[in-house]
Amino acid sequence: MKPETRIGYGWDSHEFKRGIPLKIGGLTLPHSKGLGGHSDGDVLLHAITDALLGAVAAPDIGSLFSPSDPRWKGADSALFLAEALKRVNAAGYGVVNVDSALILAAPKIGPHAVAIRTHVAELLGIPSDCVGVKAKTPEGMGTDDAAIAHVVVLLETKTAKRTTGKVRK
Ligand code: MG
Repeated sequence: MKPETRIGYGWDSHEFKRGIPLKIGGLTLPHSKGLGGHSDGDVLLHAITDALLGAVAAPDIGSLFSPSDPRWKGADSALFLAEALKRVNAAGYGVVNVDSALILAAPKIGPHAVAIRTHVAELLGIPSDCVGVKAKTPEGMGTDDAAIAHVVVLLETKTAKRTTGKVRK
């Protein structure tokens, strides 16, 4: 029988480069550098995409959207997320919630966290209080030139009834 819930985990990192916009969670944040990559370098959307794909044991983001494929050069990473969501839905699941941790020296994510949560929630079609966004600085990791994202997602079958913690009769 198909499990009622599934979890997924995704991780990504991109290197900061001067002269390009910084895209995180589908938003362009003000900063002197952006994240390099074949697509728009959106480290958070890539990690969410991989978490969704992993939850339904689909091929990972690099297999579906090869970095050597010119079609994805400069691509909006929301496209990758939409494909992952389509696969989640096709497998009979919906997204319950997403939690994420960003690791980067700058810029500060706190002032943008609500906007990122709201935008990611819209892309996923879930309430913004079901998207967690936390940021940490990379203390002692020597990774000031990179941004890292860790993401977990929870899926449930579309027919699953949410439990509330109350004892069921
Ligand atoms: Mg990536």
